[in-house]
Amino acid sequence: MLHRAKKLLPSVVLAVVAAVGTWVLVGGNDHATLTVTIAGRPARVPDGTTLGGAVSMFGLHANAGDLLDVEGNVLRPAVVPPALLLNRHVAPRRTRLRSGDLVDVADAHNRREPVSRQILHSPGGIPSDPQFTLARTPGTEVVLEGALSHKRVVSFRPSGGRQTVERAVALTFDDGPSPRYTPAILSKLRRLHVPATFFVVGYLADLYPALVLREERAGMTVGNHSYNHPEVPPFGELPQALMEDEISLGSQRLSRLGVDPRLFRPPGGSSSPAVVRTVEMSGERAVLWSVDPADWHPGVTAKQIVEQVLKAVRPGSIVILHDGGGDRSATVAALPAIVRGIRRRGLRLVAMR
Ligand SMILES: [Zn+2]
Repeated sequence: MLHRAKKLLPSVVLAVVAAVGTWVLVGGNDHATLTVTIAGRPARVPDGTTLGGAVSMFGLHANAGDLLDVEGNVLRPAVVPPALLLNRHVAPRRTRLRSGDLVDVADAHNRREPVSRQILHSPGGIPSDPQFTLARTPGTEVVLEGALSHKRVVSFRPSGGRQTVERAVALTFDDGPSPRYTPAILSKLRRLHVPATFFVVGYLADLYPALVLREERAGMTVGNHSYNHPEVPPFGELPQALMEDEISLGSQRLSRLGVDPRLFRPPGGSSSPAVVRTVEMSGERAVLWSVDPADWHPGVTAKQIVEQVLKAVRPGSIVILHDGGGDRSATVAALPAIVRGIRRRGLRLVAMR
């Protein structure tokens, strides 16, 4: 783009004659000159002028590009210099011009920071995100890490193999800890030798930290179930900042107790691409479920809970139950029959990882 003449050459007067659209160098010593084309207009420059020199001399201007991070966000704005074109190709600044050369500049392309690539083969498969079952998809995980931002972008390419489904089932308990029901559930699980997963609510972890520690010590997996358990609007529709706060506060309250949560269950099971992304940013994975006996339903009996679970359970199932949020005596009472019924089908009970 033609801008304005910035410099006058010694003993040469530079004038732009707009009417004829020509760069004219007038007068001065009769040094050898070259005839070139600058941004589409003929011009004369002293012999020995470089590409960079001509661009500055005629004040050619184009836009600088941004340096982007590995996620595509601007890391440093306008740091990539415009491209200098010699005969329509990018050339170094110091290239000496010859008669007949075409000189121009072009807007710079944005550039990505240097990125290192790590490839992790996962023949045993990885869980989907959000995760509904224990099934794992074999494939290859590609981790890109920005050398400047240190941000990571992880993508997964399924190998096309069949999903790996263990003969295992995960029992999960939400909405605790509860001083009334969590100890009862923990002692039943201990007696039955069942590892399980507890998705705890941050403010309840603040109130009953000893119960969270008991879950940990009993070999249970402790996951994040947000700080306040907001339900209206649905978690997946929360404004981004609020969603981030709920997830990170929930994590922090657990970290404070020495628990490192890797799993997050959205309140009400309300997931969305924003939930999955935000959970991933906090280093966790969104976990939903595939079997819901609605043990939270007022008036439901232990027998009904057992029937609902055993009717629906299959290899890889994730079962949602509750140890808090209301009267859970039916859930506590249902546990032994649920465990026996699942084991009778040759399925193991596992804590989620
Ligand atoms: Zn819940």
